[in-house]
Amino acid sequence: MTIVLTLDYELFLGEQTGNVDDCMIEPVRELASILKLNDSKMTIFWDISHYMRLQELAPGNKKCRNDLEKIKESILSLAGAGHDIQMHIHSHWINSDFVNDSWVLNYDFFRLHNLELKTAKKGVILDYLQKAVFTMEEVIKPVIPGYKVTMFRAGGYLLEPFELLIDAFKELGIRIDSSILPGITYNNHELTGFDYKNYPQKPYYRFNNSPKTEDINGYFYEIPVTTVKIPAWKNFIFRIQRKTVYRNLNKNLPGSSMNHVYYKKLTLLDRLFLMLKPVTVQFTLDSNFTGQVKYFLKKSPEYSVMIVHSKLFRQLHFQIMKKLITQQNIKFISLKDYVCKEQILE
Ligand SMILES: [Zn+2]
Repeated sequence: MTIVLTLDYELFLGEQTGNVDDCMIEPVRELASILKLNDSKMTIFWDISHYMRLQELAPGNKKCRNDLEKIKESILSLAGAGHDIQMHIHSHWINSDFVNDSWVLNYDFFRLHNLELKTAKKGVILDYLQKAVFTMEEVIKPVIPGYKVTMFRAGGYLLEPFELLIDAFKELGIRIDSSILPGITYNNHELTGFDYKNYPQKPYYRFNNSPKTEDINGYFYEIPVTTVKIPAWKNFIFRIQRKTVYRNLNKNLPGSSMNHVYYKKLTLLDRLFLMLKPVTVQFTLDSNFTGQVKYFLKKSPEYSVMIVHSKLFRQLHFQIMKKLITQQNIKFISLKDYVCKEQILE
């Protein structure tokens, strides 16, 4: 079986961002060495916003300078090993600050769209993305001379309203997006919410103004992350297993998510209700255990798009990856390989 592997390369979004070594460099180094076992490849969606902020702060801060160098070295080594590097934007870094050795995050621009919506200025998104493309190409070209950014994944999956991004994407020639999680509604918080409930369930499709509507002549392509429906009874079993056998799975993560920003506290009744509902989830190893991954594999077609986050990798996940490659004969390819195979853009 072949799986398209995508990895979001970034720090945490919460009060504890974690550090570059534990969230990025080390887990990705280990993953890359496992992928080497059968010459598998992945697409790294590199949070270039974080890197650009480090560039700004580096002259006055040694820690930022070090982080910058480490990330650059890691990206060069990954690109040199044949992994595909593409653009991931978490625009909240723009006005986040590094104070006393830790990040103070500001979420005003958590949605890229807010660069224009909150400032009422036009062209700011294009300027920012242009700089992001330039930065990525400048880093990567020494190892891959013809390197170009061709694909995008939105931070927090927040691609919509895509209309606000169209001009910039056209100008930069970025025609492929992989931000959509078909069938998933996250929550309705204004900062982080999205609703992809009725988006096309296809391996890939073309669109123009919004990936919600397929257009066979569309300029843009969506290659959504594969999502899997879990029936209520199965979801119930997974939740019980998580609370018992795997209750320590997410202990000691090197950082924290944004939960504090928006999560309302759930009552016991809410929680019970959640346990008894069918769910649609993304095809991922993140925070999941072996039984869940096996279930995903059973339900996912050939060339499904898996998403993982290096910051969420635990020892168990490295073991799972190793088993998938050495015992289950699974090969991982990058989105770029998939785009070539399907002759998308040709
Ligand atoms: Zn991200």
